Amino acid sequence: MTDRNEQSAAPPRPVFEARGLTKVYDMGEVRVEALRGVDLDLYPGELVVLLGPSGSGKSTLLNILGGLDVPTAGTVRYGEHDLTIDDDAAMTQYRREHVGFVFQFYNLIPSLTARENVALVTEIADKPMSPEEALTLVGLAQRMDHFPSQMSGGEQQRVAIARAVAKRPQVLLCDEPTGALDAQTGVLVLDVIARVNRDLGTTTVVITHNAVIAAMADRVVYFGDGRVQRIERNAERRPAAELQW
Ligand code: ADP
Repeated sequence: MTDRNEQSAAPPRPVFEARGLTKVYDMGEVRVEALRGVDLDLYPGELVVLLGPSGSGKSTLLNILGGLDVPTAGTVRYGEHDLTIDDDAAMTQYRREHVGFVFQFYNLIPSLTARENVALVTEIADKPMSPEEALTLVGLAQRMDHFPSQMSGGEQQRVAIARAVAKRPQVLLCDEPTGALDAQTGVLVLDVIARVNRDLGTTTVVITHNAVIAAMADRVVYFGDGRVQRIERNAERRPAAELQW
């Protein structure tokens, strides 16, 4: 009847299409097969948790999706971009325009305030939010002029999230974002990630080895031994505030 109904009838086109991805780290005598044939589609605006044990290849996959690394074989498309081509300039442009990263360690510049850390990114982005807007989005409106050393780990991670999303990326890739945090603080950080996903419509991938976190996702990709073992869709997303571990 309405456009909306018509749209929901047709499956959306994936944002990412990965096919047959392999990644081999060859270090002379030692050869590690980090990815052994990964097929994965990620859809616009979804929140995907990539769950698996340490060493199963999750970061390797995320780095390829984010244009930080290229696969040994296989293809990855992001819309019209082929992320398989080893072209530094094109990859840099892809990352700069489309991808926000959040890592386990916040990588803030200690001598700059929260606002200044975020401004480093907004100054080089096209149509970014203001640092103030980004910091308000992550619940740090009152802490903009604080230095990293004056903030808790969870607050520093929220600054890192503000920095990642201030350029309004289509994609937010989070590698163990709560790995260095206690559960209570981790939940606050996950809540911010879920809010960014919902409010900005950013396609979001969260890597974790913590199975509890899977409940906040639209879909859970179970990873093991360099492969997608299975994919499950949650009937509903559990609010991060309800997660306990
Ligand atoms: P996860 O994120 O699930 O912990 P990773 O993707 O980090 O897994 O690693 C998968 C495998 O690839 C591991 O055996 C790891 O030691 C290896 N690996 C990852 N990065 C490198 C690298 N730069 N050089 C050599 N081996 C690597």
